[in-house]
Amino acid sequence: MAGEENAEEQHEHTEAELGEERQKMEKNFAEAGRIAGSILREVPKLALPGESFLDIAESLEKMIIDAGGRLAFPANISINDIAAHFTPELDNKTLVGETDVVKIDIGVHIEGCIGDTALTVDLSGEQGRLVEASEAALAAAISMMKPGVRVGKIGEEIEREITSRGFKPIENLTGHKIEPFALHAGVEIPNIKSNASYELQEGDIFAIEPFASAGSGRVADTTQVEIFSLQSTPKLRMKYSRELLTHIVHNYFSLPFAERWLSGVFKSRLTLSSSLRELLNSGALHPYPVLRDTGRGLVAQREHTVMIEHDSAKVLTVM
Ligand code: MN
Ligand code: MN
Repeated sequence: MAGEENAEEQHEHTEAELGEERQKMEKNFAEAGRIAGSILREVPKLALPGESFLDIAESLEKMIIDAGGRLAFPANISINDIAAHFTPELDNKTLVGETDVVKIDIGVHIEGCIGDTALTVDLSGEQGRLVEASEAALAAAISMMKPGVRVGKIGEEIEREITSRGFKPIENLTGHKIEPFALHAGVEIPNIKSNASYELQEGDIFAIEPFASAGSGRVADTTQVEIFSLQSTPKLRMKYSRELLTHIVHNYFSLPFAERWLSGVFKSRLTLSSSLRELLNSGALHPYPVLRDTGRGLVAQREHTVMIEHDSAKVLTVM
C-alpha cells in the first residue's frame, strides 16, 4: 500500500542521513585525535627542567589552535603526587624541577568531537617502572577492547598490569565514554577490577587512562581549583556574572575551561573574581579541584582516545 511505501522511503532517507552524520562525526574524532597525538609527541621537548608551567601550557594550547583544532579543556600539567587537573594560573611562576614526574594531559576538539591524551615525563630518570606500569596497563587494556567486553574486565586487566609491577592503580579515577561536546558521557572505565556492567559497542569512543601510584592509590581534592565547566544556567544577581556566563556558554559550551582563559573578559580582575564566585555559588559551574594522591606518592598517567571497531579498538591519538 502506498502509505507503507512512503513510510519506507522516508525511513531509508533518514538512515542515509544518519549514516552521513555518523561519518562526519567519525572524521572529526579522527582529526581531533590525530592533532592531539601529534602535539603530545612534542611534550618531551617542552617539559624540561627550568621551563615554566605557564609557558608549557600556553605553548601546547597554541599548538592545538595552530593545528586547526579547538581546546577541549585546558592543558593539564600535574607533577609528582598531583595526579590531575592542575593548569597554571596566569601569574604562576613555577618552573619544572630537575627530578619532577610530569604528567601532561591535553584535549583537542573538532566540532565537539574530542581527542583526549596524556603521558608522563620522568625527569628523575628513576621512575621508569612507574611510568612503564601506566603504559603497559594502557596497552593491555586497549588490546582487549572490542564489542561485548565488559568495562569492569578492562579495569581488572589495568589493575593486574599495575600491581604486578609493585604499584597501585588509582581506584577513584577512571576512563570515560566521549560523545560530541561531552568529555565525560556517563560510562566509566575503572582502573580496578569492578562489576561495572557496560559492554563496549561498535562505534563507541572512549578515553582510557590508567594511573599508577607509588602512594595510596586514591586521590582527594585539594583546595585549589583552576578548571571549571558549565553545569547550569541559573538566575544571577550581578550584571557582570550574567555577562561572564554568556561568554562561557558561547565559547566553551559544556567543555572544561581555565580561569586563566577568562582574563580578557573584563578590564578589572576583581570583577572577574567576584563574577566567577557568583557563578560557582549559584551552581552554574562545576569545579574540578586539583587532585593529589592521599599517600603523597608519585603518580604516572598514560591516556589514549580509542574508537571501538568491529573486532578491536582503534587508537585515535597515535603519537
Ligand atoms: Mn585526559
Ligand atoms: Mn580523560
